[in-house]
Amino acid sequence: MRISVANAAVELYQGDITRLAVDAMVNAANSRLAGGGGVDGAIHRAGGPQIMAECRAIGSCPTGTAVITTAGRLSARWVIHAVGPVYRDGTRGEPELLDGAYRACLQLARQHGARSIAFPSISTGVYGYPIEKAAPIALAAAVRHLQEPSPLERVVFALFSAADYAVYERVLAGIAPAAS
Ligand code: ADP
Repeated sequence: MRISVANAAVELYQGDITRLAVDAMVNAANSRLAGGGGVDGAIHRAGGPQIMAECRAIGSCPTGTAVITTAGRLSARWVIHAVGPVYRDGTRGEPELLDGAYRACLQLARQHGARSIAFPSISTGVYGYPIEKAAPIALAAAVRHLQEPSPLERVVFALFSAADYAVYERVLAGIAPAAS
């Protein structure tokens, strides 16, 4: 699925994010930038050791923010490591932290002149954020960003499972009329 926002597009893709050809690939990292399972493991495996070497040099990244490295062997130019919140009950600032992580990525992409970016569904794996609650935050952050001047022409959300894709599709359909 794909919707237009200003001169850009928000797209949904089902599958492995590391297969996408984009300028900036977002990693759902942890605040120690230590690597892990899930999408983090997949990006480091596909990109090779250079990315981890740069993460070690940066050191850490507070929850709700993001840092940028090069992308090693990936076809992307940059990996943006975003740290979403661990979900507890939704009253511990989780929505603001998740929105902050998405906004930080989009801002880094803008600063570096990226024309395309791919996001995984940050925090909805091991970090336990309910995807029905996370998808509106993720998609609204992308739409808001594209309504301001930005070099980004494509914002892609890579959803690993068909069930996750269906949730994002439903949410995106709901915000499409207001966005275009
Ligand atoms: P977090 O710790 O932020 O929750 P996870 O990596 O555990 O991060 O999960 C985030 C989302 O990424 C989950 O929906 C998971 O299914 C998905 N995911 C895992 N591997 C990949 C991949 N290779 N490409 C895209 N999404 C992936």
